[in-house]
Amino acid sequence: MESRKKLMHAKITSEVLRYCTDFFHRKGFVQLMPVILSPITDPLGPDPGSTVIKTGEIEYLGQRLSLTQSMILHKQIAVKQGIKKLFIISPNVRLESPARKESGKHLFEFSQLDFEIEGGKREDVFGLMEELMKGTVEHVKKECADELHILGRTLPAFSSPFSCYTTHELEEKYGADWETAASLAHSAPFWALCHRREFYDKEDPAEPGHYRNYDLIYPEGFGEALSGAEREYEYERIIARIGKDRLDAGRYAAYLELARDGMLPSAGGGFGIERLVRYITGAKHVGDVQLFRRVPGEQVIV
Ligand code: ASP
Ligand code: MG
Repeated sequence: MESRKKLMHAKITSEVLRYCTDFFHRKGFVQLMPVILSPITDPLGPDPGSTVIKTGEIEYLGQRLSLTQSMILHKQIAVKQGIKKLFIISPNVRLESPARKESGKHLFEFSQLDFEIEGGKREDVFGLMEELMKGTVEHVKKECADELHILGRTLPAFSSPFSCYTTHELEEKYGADWETAASLAHSAPFWALCHRREFYDKEDPAEPGHYRNYDLIYPEGFGEALSGAEREYEYERIIARIGKDRLDAGRYAAYLELARDGMLPSAGGGFGIERLVRYITGAKHVGDVQLFRRVPGEQVIV
């Protein structure tokens, strides 16, 4: 059964990739190639939920290069270079604490579909993602009905718009660690707004300490699907936010040089393909849907 399950997960992953790729092409997005090594990458913090223990790095010909944690900074640079709507399916390496083994949703290497829209707003991303989520689920139900049946997974149809809460509301209702409890209390995906996250997520100019960002949360306990935001794009704001986060501005020199006369306003997000497949298949652990498991705290076999 285990090897049969692997084949079913591989087929469903393939259909998810096909649908998502076609969807973004249909919507006029340009597909970019991923970057794996760069002097700059997503700092992934400060995020109260992050348990990444270090950034993967190599030294090559005297240069220190980080393994991509997400394509966010390259997305902003690509937008600045004139690509108005873009997406990338990129390997992300996030060296999570072994304590994450039991979470069911953490991997130290996964594939993220990252997209960005020049001049985009939060509402543009909501509309796009809700259509994509519904479409992907319908596509897999149609193309992989036998697999879903054998896996014992029934997925409810869900309607747009998804429910929307601020993280302040969620904390009040479900406690500081709201994600799993809130996810379990829902049967359809929902949006969580306003996290204190990385410097590139825009702080609301009208309400300092509040952010123009969002997470999409899967229901039934599956938890976070996507993180994204309207972006900080003004040089002074970016510098101020990097300073506030006590990041080493020197590590972002190339990015800051390109941002000197401003990035372009944009909004986007990124979601893990494996987490989407886990939600669709109902797998116990996100590593179960990978052909080559990358679960923190487990030895890598191949
Ligand atoms: N890709 C995400 C974004 O667009 C960042 C992340 O990976 O959490 O904001
Ligand atoms: Mg996130």
